Amino acid sequence: MENKTRKEQLEVWDKTYLWHPFTQMQDYLKESPLIIEEGSGTLLKDIDGKEYIDGISSMWCNLHGHRRKEIDDAIKGQLAKVAHTTLLGLSNIPSIELARKLIEVTPKGLEKVFYSDNGSTANEVALKMAFQYWQNKGYKDKTEFVALQHGYHGDTIGTMSVGGIHLFHGAFRPLYFKTHFAPSPYCYRCPLGEERKDCALKCLGKLENILQGNSHRIAALIMEPLVQGAGGMIMHPRGYLSGVRTLCKKYNILLIVDEVLTGFGRTGKMFACLHEDIVPDIMTLSKGINGGYMPLAATLTTQEIYHAFLGEFSSLKTFFHGHTYTGNPLACSAALASLELFEKDRILENLETKINQVCNILKTFESLKHVGNVRQCGFIAAIELVKDKTTKEPYPWEERIGVKVCIEARKYGVLIRPLGHIIIIMPPFIIKPHELDTLIGSTYKSIQAITG
Ligand SMILES: *Cc1c(COP(=O)(O)O)cnc(C)c1O
Repeated sequence: MENKTRKEQLEVWDKTYLWHPFTQMQDYLKESPLIIEEGSGTLLKDIDGKEYIDGISSMWCNLHGHRRKEIDDAIKGQLAKVAHTTLLGLSNIPSIELARKLIEVTPKGLEKVFYSDNGSTANEVALKMAFQYWQNKGYKDKTEFVALQHGYHGDTIGTMSVGGIHLFHGAFRPLYFKTHFAPSPYCYRCPLGEERKDCALKCLGKLENILQGNSHRIAALIMEPLVQGAGGMIMHPRGYLSGVRTLCKKYNILLIVDEVLTGFGRTGKMFACLHEDIVPDIMTLSKGINGGYMPLAATLTTQEIYHAFLGEFSSLKTFFHGHTYTGNPLACSAALASLELFEKDRILENLETKINQVCNILKTFESLKHVGNVRQCGFIAAIELVKDKTTKEPYPWEERIGVKVCIEARKYGVLIRPLGHIIIIMPPFIIKPHELDTLIGSTYKSIQAITG
């Protein structure tokens, strides 16, 4: 046995046995991996004991910090009872209590909860539910979907079929079912060449053209409300979401709202739908659902849709879908503890000053030579880097400009992860004001150092 330190051994094993998601492993193998050993609050500690601010909430899901006592205790308490039992034909206490709580906090009109394990499965469930709803109702031709360009709903084949990110979804195109794509309301790079100040949301007109011509074969429209996350934190103009809601009603198309990223306070309100007072037919939730502790997701829907699945056993109206760990008691008890924290700690009220703090610091970025657009929605900030500010020419993705900025930021004890040339800042809600200054200030310095 060679005389390796523990760190060297772990690095070798990481590179020998692991295949990391969304990662070109050939590049990964050339670098020394960052291996996390512990976390506490906003901080993550690597195996050398160096601390980093978790600037992206461990991939957009942590809300109340790491090792949060209330959530830890809830999981331990449940562990002392039972770790897992199935929800297929049986029930368990945390999944019942959480379902009731979710219906209480989400927009009125959503009345049924179907659990799964992650954002992709929550959306997969939503698509199947919408499809079978029309089949059960006798509308056999309503089999197609509408989605937005730059949209992201997960990595399973079904959710990729409604995905609008060519870089991720291009390779698998022959496997997809039929989806109509409407332009994304990406105001900085308006696909219709309009200016926000006088566009009157012409993008909604483009969407209406699609719905008008095809409504008899469209089952549902799926979209991320207010913010298209993985597509580049594209933030929609006011009125777009409620406009889509109106159009879906008009053309008898179900609206699936993917709140996997925006749900549980990220946008400053509990759910993005609340900003425009809309109620979707189906809502999907995951990432923040239990404060970023463990896999859990939910697909919520209305009585109308639920009732279309009722019937004699032999009628085959049953929703034939379910995962092994659906409604896992540990994950549900963590979610209950997380929702309790929202109330007890007045999370959203307290977030307001920090949202303003982010807004103020972000203003300083606009003067940087290669910052084309700075945008914010609640506790999500995105900085779009461009090669040329006047022409908005993007950096070629091969240049990996975002990756370089984020690696630079590690020097300052900050962990962030880009989306191509877009730098994302979205820390846990409990981040302290001075940590927020460090996080955003270090991001500024890193952009300056890398883009000059
Ligand atoms: C992350 C994400 C998903 C996919 O969730 P996973 O848990 O990674 O499968 C789906 N939709 C949105 C909006 C997301 O941000």
